[in-house]
Amino acid sequence: MLEVFAVISLCRVNRRNALARGRKPGGFIALTIILWVVFEFIGMIAGTIILGSDNGYLTVLLIALPCAGLGGLISFLIAKNCPQGNYVDPSTIAKPVMTVGPNGAPIYGNPNIPAYQMQQVPVQPMQPVQPMQPVQPVQGAGPVAGMRYCRYCGAANNSTSKFCESCGQNIE
Ligand SMILES: [Zn+2]
Repeated sequence: MLEVFAVISLCRVNRRNALARGRKPGGFIALTIILWVVFEFIGMIAGTIILGSDNGYLTVLLIALPCAGLGGLISFLIAKNCPQGNYVDPSTIAKPVMTVGPNGAPIYGNPNIPAYQMQQVPVQPMQPVQPMQPVQPVQGAGPVAGMRYCRYCGAANNSTSKFCESCGQNIE
């Protein structure tokens, strides 16, 4: 049972080392278990040949387990010194989060870029709206007798009108 825990912890170490080198850890975990089991098996056979079939306990303790440890050490060295890859552990990638920017538009997080790398997009402040200039009466048209011209929009109104017929402003 102790041996199982040893293999599990070694798998964890190799997984971490493989991820640190940007490699997918699945193959390294399988390799760890295979190397451990194969080396232990070879150790059992070698031990049985050396010590005889009557010394099963000594064979396991003195030969098979050290062989398994050697297999584990090889898997450790392979995971530790494997060629650099560009694999990223999915559990370390930030999930896309929808947020609302200052302009009210939704901002979607890119699942391939960690949140801390996302760039802040500067928002341009809104320009104040220029007040509307009153429209000047058309030059050259000349005022017509009996008409009142709105000083806001220049429209001609009947002299009896209190409010501009065009823009509704008080023209009295
Ligand atoms: Zn008017």
